[in-house]
Amino acid sequence: QITIDKIAAGEVIERPASIVKELVENAIDAKAAAVVVEIQEGGISFIRITDNGSGIPREDVPNAFLRHSTSKIRSVDDLTHVASLGFRGEALSSIAAVTKTELITKTREETFGTRYIIEGGQELSLEDTGAPDGTTFLIRQLFYNVPARRKFLKTAMTEAGHIQDLLMRLALSHPEVSFQFINNGQEKLRTAGNGRLKDVIYSIYGREVAASLIEMDYEKGGLHMKGFLGKPLISRGNRNFENFFINGRYIKSAMISKAVEDAYRDFVMQHKFPFVVLHFEIDGEDIDVNVHPTKMELRFQKQQEVYNTVYEGVHRTLLEPEL
Ligand code: ADP
Ligand code: MG
Repeated sequence: QITIDKIAAGEVIERPASIVKELVENAIDAKAAAVVVEIQEGGISFIRITDNGSGIPREDVPNAFLRHSTSKIRSVDDLTHVASLGFRGEALSSIAAVTKTELITKTREETFGTRYIIEGGQELSLEDTGAPDGTTFLIRQLFYNVPARRKFLKTAMTEAGHIQDLLMRLALSHPEVSFQFINNGQEKLRTAGNGRLKDVIYSIYGREVAASLIEMDYEKGGLHMKGFLGKPLISRGNRNFENFFINGRYIKSAMISKAVEDAYRDFVMQHKFPFVVLHFEIDGEDIDVNVHPTKMELRFQKQQEVYNTVYEGVHRTLLEPEL
């Protein structure tokens, strides 16, 4: 079982950021209002993730670390499901298989919290502890028992950068959750969690970017686009400032990027890239999307129609007179 979990972990856990992604998504699923992520050495030696969500009931704790154990029922046609297919109920077992994991958790209904230690897939202890409502994961020494995989990790700085990028995207897709990121004792990111996307953008990109945003809200043919467009005069040297989310999930799409860039091109910018944060909500079956489970690259069935709608929506928004 432990060997199988170690192999399965190879699919899910590539680097420290993979662990942070799975655990923060779990915290969000558990309705946490606030999530704190602390790392040392790029997350290779230490990751602590604290949330104030539902907690895990004592009797469910060991089970949560079994492969294919999930308390979440997802509908088959839910994009979220498609995007995380293959990872269902595999995160905790995979993380525990290749790290030294400690969990402290308490539900509102329980008087005592639970402290659970599992290292390299071996349960070491399960005991009472005093704890606030919610869940804390401590993850130490990634791949300590899989030296071959440890070799593929990059420098602490690079790994920390991956985690910061990931948390920025999670913050942008969940303005209702407060995120704090601390790297080697230094606060790198803090969002208010007040539900306002513009405030998240301010927290991440600063006053100058936040002051030059045009709000976008456009709907056509089952495609709803909401978010903010940077004013055309401020442009970027690469696509890193184009942030797209579909049904709450971060994605990359060369086609959507191109549609947005083409729409901007009429407004002075040439061969440059805009700042955008756009959330797409897709309802209706006529827009069919496919996402590769591990990659974020997205494909639409009706490429040309989606291109046209995105182009038109962005173009019209940029044309609107300022209020
Ligand atoms: P999945 O998220 O696909 O269900 P995981 O392996 O990520 O699988 O988690 C297993 C289970 O552990 C979840 O279904 C959930 O019930 C529980 N769980 C994990 N993390 C948390 C958390 N932060 N708060 C509450 N419950 C959690
Ligand atoms: Mg999960």
